[in-house]
Amino acid sequence: MRRALAIALVLLSASCTNGDGAVTATTGVTEATSPSFTPGAPGIGDDYYPSLGNGGYDVQHYRIDLAYEEDGSVGAGVAIDAVATQNLSGFNLDFAGWSISGLQVDGTEVPFSRDGEELVITGVAIADGDEFRVAINYSGTPAPYESAALPFPIGWFDGPNGEQFVAAEPDAAHSWFPCNDHPLDKATFTFAVRGPAGYGTAANGERVLNDGDDAGSASKDGGVASQWEMTSPMATYLATVALGRGWQVVADPVSTEAAGIEVRNFLPADLSEDPPAALERTGEMIRTLEAAFGPYPFSRYGIAVVDGFPSALENQTLSLFGRQMVDAPFFEYVLVHELAHQWFGDSVSLARWSDIWLNEGFATYAEMLWVEHLHGSAAYREEVANRTQAARIAGYGPPGTPPPDDLFNGSVYQRGGLLLAALRDEIGDDAFFTTLRVYSDRFADANATTQDFIALAEEVAGRDLGVFFDVWLYGDELPEG
Ligand SMILES: [Zn+2]
Repeated sequence: MRRALAIALVLLSASCTNGDGAVTATTGVTEATSPSFTPGAPGIGDDYYPSLGNGGYDVQHYRIDLAYEEDGSVGAGVAIDAVATQNLSGFNLDFAGWSISGLQVDGTEVPFSRDGEELVITGVAIADGDEFRVAINYSGTPAPYESAALPFPIGWFDGPNGEQFVAAEPDAAHSWFPCNDHPLDKATFTFAVRGPAGYGTAANGERVLNDGDDAGSASKDGGVASQWEMTSPMATYLATVALGRGWQVVADPVSTEAAGIEVRNFLPADLSEDPPAALERTGEMIRTLEAAFGPYPFSRYGIAVVDGFPSALENQTLSLFGRQMVDAPFFEYVLVHELAHQWFGDSVSLARWSDIWLNEGFATYAEMLWVEHLHGSAAYREEVANRTQAARIAGYGPPGTPPPDDLFNGSVYQRGGLLLAALRDEIGDDAFFTTLRVYSDRFADANATTQDFIALAEEVAGRDLGVFFDVWLYGDELPEG
């Protein structure tokens, strides 16, 4: 029954069109008169967070230009290349806060209004299938964002040592740049980041320019600049920038050699000189997870370490780590967890936020695989048993239906991870790891649902697994092992 419901929801979101009057159109000079041109929908169809994302277009690329000043203010511009998926008389972007000083579509100023966190653009006539570019200039002082999914603010952070960084999962990307803020609309990114003199700057992907060696993007007052290219499709919430006085991009030759991809980290001065020992195991971790999940999905990896963030987040190719995570005895396991998300969450992205166990359960299971890698199968068994006991005591609810206002609860991690351990026992090592490798390959750079994963596991195992998944995902109690 739940599986039938899940299919219905996918069809609903795929066919979602704007039928209500929520978008208030202002009179535009070039507004389409043909009735076949209509505004794109104000949401992309996520049943947990209906206002996230938008309909009517598909973003191909974001270019974000951002200059952080010593007084805490930011001047920014974003250029969004998109393709219309219907005849558009207007469309929405998601955007909260800031002050917009200019907005153009294909070089022409067009009318826009702001309705809560919806940026409503009108006065256009874009035919289905046509490419268009939206250019927006904006400025302000970044503010924390009250997430609908978490009990603490996220988005742009102002760290205790003046460092600036972004942690946006799940819904705060649009608190720092206008976007189609949902993992269903992944795009490539360019970041041009500028900071005051003495600041290091970083973003996702490959650094293609550094420290004002591009005269055009170095700031007038002697600041520093860098440009980064994220050439694999990326969900908006995984986009990040980080700036800090004395921070540096530091190569990790040991991990680069072991992994066969460039591993580099963005570190404060003391860690640049003396990186933590566990960090140099990044290459070994990549190799270990590749054996379980298939090839690492991107061309680079590393972490950015900051003060003033109580957690860690798997930003694509540059995971964010709060300093207390780095100093904790379990740092190595958090490294494995965020690395595993590069496959599950970043390359294979959710199609709807209610499926968050597909991210967190898989990353948590990677921690158990690391125990097995280090200490063998008996230690793995013991780890699974210990986590099962802890989950039983915690009394977690079903991981398949997390509360929308507490999306990242313990269940999606622990019951999600234990589900995978149980699936391995249920279908055997060969079918289990084949399922993981085919899943990461088939849905690479795209989106998957819980139903996609179940269907694949059944395809590989050659039998119905409906009852197994039903009790593990939707049962009130943790199933007996
Ligand atoms: Zn995680």
